[in-house]
Amino acid sequence: MSTGLKRPTLDTVTTINRDGSRHLIHPADAAGRFMLARRLFAVLLLAVYILLPWIPINGSPAVFLDVANRRFHLFGLTFLAQDLWVAFFAVSGAGFILFYLTALFGRLWCGWACPYTVFLEHAVRRVERWIEGDAQSRRRLDAMPWRGMKILRRGLSLTATFLISLLVAHFFLAYFVSLPRLWKMMLSRPGEHWFAFCVVMLVTLTLFFCFAWFREQFCIVLCPYGRIQSALTDEHTLTVAYDRGRGEPRGRPGATGVGDCVNCLRCVQVCPTGIDIRNGLQLECIGCAACLDACDAVMLRLKRRRGLVRYTSMRGLQGLKTRWLRPRILAYTGLLAAGLAALGFSITRLHSFQATLTRLAGAPYYVTAEGVRNQFQLELVNKRRETGEFRLDLEDAPAGTRLNPSGNAIRVPGQEEYKGVLTIEIPRSVYQGKQRLVLRVRNGTHPDATALEFEFTGPDPRLLPEISPAPAPASIP
Ligand code: SF4
Ligand code: SF4
Repeated sequence: MSTGLKRPTLDTVTTINRDGSRHLIHPADAAGRFMLARRLFAVLLLAVYILLPWIPINGSPAVFLDVANRRFHLFGLTFLAQDLWVAFFAVSGAGFILFYLTALFGRLWCGWACPYTVFLEHAVRRVERWIEGDAQSRRRLDAMPWRGMKILRRGLSLTATFLISLLVAHFFLAYFVSLPRLWKMMLSRPGEHWFAFCVVMLVTLTLFFCFAWFREQFCIVLCPYGRIQSALTDEHTLTVAYDRGRGEPRGRPGATGVGDCVNCLRCVQVCPTGIDIRNGLQLECIGCAACLDACDAVMLRLKRRRGLVRYTSMRGLQGLKTRWLRPRILAYTGLLAAGLAALGFSITRLHSFQATLTRLAGAPYYVTAEGVRNQFQLELVNKRRETGEFRLDLEDAPAGTRLNPSGNAIRVPGQEEYKGVLTIEIPRSVYQGKQRLVLRVRNGTHPDATALEFEFTGPDPRLLPEISPAPAPASIP
């Protein structure tokens, strides 16, 4: 493993040496307007990531993925496992938003908002810098033998990284168990909730591995989004780019016939993925703008114009106009609008309860002294927080048809399920054979209704007088 400042090339990945060993990067600190904006944005995002499971909306946390009870609370809406088809539109919508933002602004997500970058850059590396010192001190520490100061500083730094990983793993768990339950788990023995304990330890160790050692390799080697970005961007996309026309040829300040780049390598020193932005747009670039701030600081010191490295498009670098509206953007806008419309429509189609009717196993019908009877299992899932009083009505049924239970007969507590037998009996005098019927289910306190269409089955009505009554029907197995 090597750790010194390495000159990046386009032939190899900076973080991997020719012999396959790891080259550890210690990015120098960059200060500037974009870094300040990123830090403020990161604080806001950290607050959002941490507080989402705490902020109550409609009586539930803003985001609470209650996998154990198969209930998912998202910003005031409650979804059950049966509603997960809506997730298809939500996930594809989020994907289209990412496509859309990438086509417009490149890897803005990676550098500014990705939780991995936010925790690594604005928590782990901050603490590490505080304990181990600036980039040079950290490199010196790397080169030192393992004793005294190195053991102390590295030990402290790794302990802090482990604690951050543990904390993040608990924030992660808070999305899946309620906060009171999380608190209870934290105060009890691991054996009482071994599954959650194993999940937290697994997440902690994975994060610790990533934060302490794997670091930028995750973005360079593992993240699929980085792989597809080149297919999403074009010459109009805004990226962090080096103005070759202005910067080349490189040379010392004051030398004649040279461009604005003084080859100070500040842009390389601050890059968290170890690349040289002057080599053009590269897969490893996460668009963090650290090189931009670093170069601006150099330009200001030399009393030159800022923006040798800047946010611009490939066309902008050539002095051509960047077009925001272009076929790719229009196509993504169309897809995004269609996705959002589908999501909005599917949310409006969600009922405040779920009703299902399943024919009971066994005989499809019973002929009794009074008539022909069909039996079903009725399942009601009340998605609301309040108790529901469910009313059942039969439509298109002959007069005198008996429904049991009927009327406002079924009370289901908030977010609970009801399972029971529903019997429908058509009197012999009006029985006309098989027919399609509709069971309308209403929540008495809510205008929502569900119509369940089913087939009422039975014998040929001409044979009915000859059929003697069957034994009493079965109950749910
Ligand atoms: S920081 Fe600016 S001046 Fe220095 S090497 Fe990079 S591009 Fe050139
Ligand atoms: S090249 Fe610049 S924008 Fe890209 S990752 Fe490195 S420092 Fe960030």
